[in-house]
Amino acid sequence: MKGLCILGATGSIGVSTLDVAVRHPDLYEIVVLTANSNIDALYQQCLQYKPQYAVVADEGQGKIFKQQIAASPVANIKVLIGSKALEEVASLDEVDSVMAAIVGAAGLLPTLAAARAGKTVLLANKEALVMSGDIFLQTISEFGAKLLPIDSEHNAIFQCMPAAYETAHQAKSVRRILLTASGGPFRETPIDQLVNVTPDQAVAHPNWDMGKKISVDSATMMNKGLELIEACLLFSVSADKIQIVIHPESIIHSMVDYVDGTVLAQMGNPDMRIPIAHAMAWPERFDSGAEPLDIFKVKQLNFEQPDLQRFPCLRLAYQAINAGGIMPAVLNAANEIAVEAFLQEQIRFTDIPVIIEKCMQEFNPEKADSLDKILQADHSARDRSKEIIQHLK
Ligand code: NAD
Ligand code: MG
Repeated sequence: MKGLCILGATGSIGVSTLDVAVRHPDLYEIVVLTANSNIDALYQQCLQYKPQYAVVADEGQGKIFKQQIAASPVANIKVLIGSKALEEVASLDEVDSVMAAIVGAAGLLPTLAAARAGKTVLLANKEALVMSGDIFLQTISEFGAKLLPIDSEHNAIFQCMPAAYETAHQAKSVRRILLTASGGPFRETPIDQLVNVTPDQAVAHPNWDMGKKISVDSATMMNKGLELIEACLLFSVSADKIQIVIHPESIIHSMVDYVDGTVLAQMGNPDMRIPIAHAMAWPERFDSGAEPLDIFKVKQLNFEQPDLQRFPCLRLAYQAINAGGIMPAVLNAANEIAVEAFLQEQIRFTDIPVIIEKCMQEFNPEKADSLDKILQADHSARDRSKEIIQHLK
């Protein structure tokens, strides 16, 4: 029996994780659920799943939530408040596996805490890895933690890698990785119309139902840029060994091309419960609740080259990984600020890459050799991006 902590339980990945976990009550016990400020959803989850702990990161909402739980039928749940509490619960003895499903940089410290406590880290929160890079991987190995990718592409690559493959050891038999991307909702929109894209249009993804931030990232293809960096780190390859492939059907979730000409692909319906169940059952397999793939219904699979002109965010991600050091953290921070401003209707869709590029130009690729340096780069890139947005108007 494994104890499960879900960081970001109320989000899209969190909800899918709960859906998978309750199918296997003999294997997983839900020990911790956390949320930022959506206490209504967390309250319902507490009634339904009866965790031992519930954490609300937002202090104000946390106080209200604590009173609600105290007066509820599940008053024995321990309620903790604040972002420090996220690190605490990720390290509890009762916890074996931590689903890192907080969105953005806010997930970094709790995910690192899980690694430091030697947990099995189920990593959905790609921003945490992109920001902290080698430090993250070193922490995993230093403390004997296990890292399993949840991002569908990276989970697919993990499944297609050689059997003896272990994260952070380059597999010599691999020629390259084919990282697939749906191309998002604007793959065919005339480029001159992208300036008018609204937040509602941007978050309406053709194949996946996800949180708002990652949906916008998919529309700009920054998501694939972050995933490129994520793949370089997870599989110890340089960016030139990764080919991004637009595959609009999202049935193949990525491929590994071997030196003998073999290409292995992982396929399945676009349902995050599949990679979640894979990582939770690993090295075994169990039911995810996902529909089986009907290849006769799929009929056709298509592949295209990515268009860096249409998707300048992809170009910026290549720049960040090639520059190295703190630049992936700067890219990520500027993107988080720009996406939030776009969702708040403060900037246009096409301003997102402009802001990120301007911000990146103001930083030198200093070494990212300490967590402090990374957090500092993250903070100053956020401040700079906000200033750039002010001057954009
Ligand atoms: P979401 O917006 O649906 O959920 C985010 C969760 O994080 C919520 O539970 C929220 O309460 C919590 N959260 C947000 N800000 C927080 C803060 N400051 N402190 C503490 N908690 C906070 O997002 P999502 O779509 O579930 O994505 C989560 C992560 O998984 C992201 O990093 C995303 O890139 C990655 N991911 C998601 C999908 C998907 O299909 N949704 C696929 C691959 C990877
Ligand atoms: Mg993905």
